[in-house]
Amino acid sequence: MSYLRLAIPSPLRRLFDYLPPADCDLATLMPGIRVKVPFANRQLIGMLIEVTDTTDVPAKKLKPALEILDTTPPLPAHLLKLARWSASYYQHPVGEALSQALPVLLRKGEADNYIPAMKWRACTGASTDSIAKNASKQRQLLQWLLNNPAGLTPEQLKEAGSTKATLTSLQEKSLIEQFTPQPDEQADNILREPPLTLNPQQQTAVDSLSEDSGFRSILLYGITGSGKTEVYLQAIEAQLKQGKQALVLVPEIGLTPQTVTRFKARFNVSIVSLHSNLTDKQRLEAWQQARAGVAKIVIGTRSAIFTPLKHPGVIIIDEEHDASFKQQDGFRYSARDLSVMRAHRENIPIMLGSATPSIESLYNVQQQRYQWLQLTQRAGNAKPPGFELLDIRQDNLQDGLSPALIKQIGGHLQQGNQVLVFINRRGFAPSLMCHDCGWIADCRRCDAHMTLHRSPAHLHCHHCDSQRPIPRVCDSCGADELKPVGAGTERTESALQQLFPETPVIRVDRDTTQRKQALQDIVDQVNLGDPCILVGTQMLAKGHHFPKVTLVAILNADSGLFSADFRGMERTAQQILQVAGRAGRAELPGKVVMQTHHADHPTINSLINEGYLAFAQQELNTRNSANLPPTINCIMIRAEARYQGQAERFLMQVRQQFDRQDGKPQWIGPLPSPMEKRAGMFRAQLLLQSHDRKTLHGLVNHIALQLEASAEARKIRWSVDVDPIEMF
Ligand code: ADP
Ligand code: ZN
Ligand code: ZN
Repeated sequence: MSYLRLAIPSPLRRLFDYLPPADCDLATLMPGIRVKVPFANRQLIGMLIEVTDTTDVPAKKLKPALEILDTTPPLPAHLLKLARWSASYYQHPVGEALSQALPVLLRKGEADNYIPAMKWRACTGASTDSIAKNASKQRQLLQWLLNNPAGLTPEQLKEAGSTKATLTSLQEKSLIEQFTPQPDEQADNILREPPLTLNPQQQTAVDSLSEDSGFRSILLYGITGSGKTEVYLQAIEAQLKQGKQALVLVPEIGLTPQTVTRFKARFNVSIVSLHSNLTDKQRLEAWQQARAGVAKIVIGTRSAIFTPLKHPGVIIIDEEHDASFKQQDGFRYSARDLSVMRAHRENIPIMLGSATPSIESLYNVQQQRYQWLQLTQRAGNAKPPGFELLDIRQDNLQDGLSPALIKQIGGHLQQGNQVLVFINRRGFAPSLMCHDCGWIADCRRCDAHMTLHRSPAHLHCHHCDSQRPIPRVCDSCGADELKPVGAGTERTESALQQLFPETPVIRVDRDTTQRKQALQDIVDQVNLGDPCILVGTQMLAKGHHFPKVTLVAILNADSGLFSADFRGMERTAQQILQVAGRAGRAELPGKVVMQTHHADHPTINSLINEGYLAFAQQELNTRNSANLPPTINCIMIRAEARYQGQAERFLMQVRQQFDRQDGKPQWIGPLPSPMEKRAGMFRAQLLLQSHDRKTLHGLVNHIALQLEASAEARKIRWSVDVDPIEMF
């Protein structure tokens, strides 16, 4: 007898055996193909791990699989292996992890047959001279195709406004033709625009990736505006010339439309960007194009890490310090760390770039796991911005703005420049308080205040998304004088608009950028170059290049300094430098003003006087002596339950199980989470630490399997987070 051993998307950490479906040729089944099976009362799509001739399942419990869905596995063998490895490393049920490595439609069982989309291109020798002068639409279209020798898809043509009639008449004149792109077809002319002349540091960085010597992991430290993107572009160019592909991971594509635009402007090759606005169908097609080798460059966020490449050439992780590379729920993998593993297995180079590298990556450089390269100068004529700490302890703030800052904003606008005001909270005010008794409007489901929003007017919990109308009187004493406390983007926006009625004030936060094109429209408006004030959250800190911004104001620079999370200082430093990096990126010199109540805080001062690396080295020393990551390995076990104390009691039992094991790790907790109640659940956490990673992982795996089998644990929501980056 033969059995199919399958990974099935269920919360159980094990594989499942099935009988093969009737009339199935076992010899043709390859690991990784999808198989539809009955599971409990449902049908699920599993992935074949192996065909075996033994099983522990009693014969009468064995069920036949329903259908074999693939002849060849959707994921190439090495990515299947990587996904299995990551399930085990991140201690996640293997079936769920493998399922997540596939595009949604394949998870659901859609057929995996890739039909390459037809494209249009200009015929050899075609020229606009042969088109009548008055047929301007036809001339335009042909010129555009001549500029794009790799061809354009019907959608691209439609987006640019060309009609079926124009296409048909050009086709009838034999000036343009349809064709099917071939995976290994090499465009003669990869470049659409000439590359910039690199400075010596950039050249060294590009060369380090072009040398053809297989895997190496490079940390590129380049201050903001130093031309990291140009390094990526030219490193990719070298790979494209060898017929290879590139995978580029970025924190959030929606936030940096400019990055994708720059890639598309540079290259004539097919580029797919896997952003959240794609439909499942488009996402599947992009994924298949990459796998077929048709798409040469894949730009995506975290989940793009499992995109197969036919001819892998290089992996780039931009803004490698960004927390979004770590998935924070379910399958809690780090796409950055997995990428390094992937590059190693595919034997290709990987570059991690940042102006504010993570302490983990700097540690990896010290351990000689990563090679270190740096860009210490801003590209072109741009100079790094100057910093000013504005002590606001004695100031009368006007909606959170100090008089000295307001004056400076006015000055920069008068020079015809643009100003960026950073405040890390959206909404009008972070809380609403009763002036008489001090009552504050709290979320009923979380240990948190509700944020006051004015447009539209409501109270909003940013942790569980609950909303309710703004109360007219105090819940506690009935007084009717409820006052907003503190400032968010909406309040700052309206204050600045009153102070500078002539100048457009543009707010950029999650509320103003929900529409698909919204952020792009804002970027376009800013790039027109007229004076304006941008007010926004960290959305504004990420990767934007606004040449006319000369002043960056950081309103609450202190907000992360006293965080309960040991990474608070690192995050604060990164955020300050990333926002600051938007100032003075072109010809005009930039200035950064930081409002603070702690103008003499040693860390802030060392950060702005000695720079990020000095700060990071100190931080690493501190972590080292306090036995904190990255010098020690961590696993966090979290639990949440309906009643207070329940999750903690459960974790206490978990801890006792560790006590009974050899080589037990150090622990902290169980403790209630810093925000104990969230969305109606009470949360607690147990942190395990050890210098011996193998033993730690082995123990946690052992205990997770025991928990899975325990009836007690089924009443609790619990999860394992390996290498956690948030301590809550
Ligand atoms: P980063 O990604 O490091 O923040 P960018 O790649 O966005 O920096 O570069 C900042 C600006 O400098 C861009 O306008 C870019 O076109 C320009 N730039 C980059 N490299 C060069 C170069 N070698 N010569 C001239 N300008 C450059
Ligand atoms: Zn009151
Ligand atoms: Zn809430």
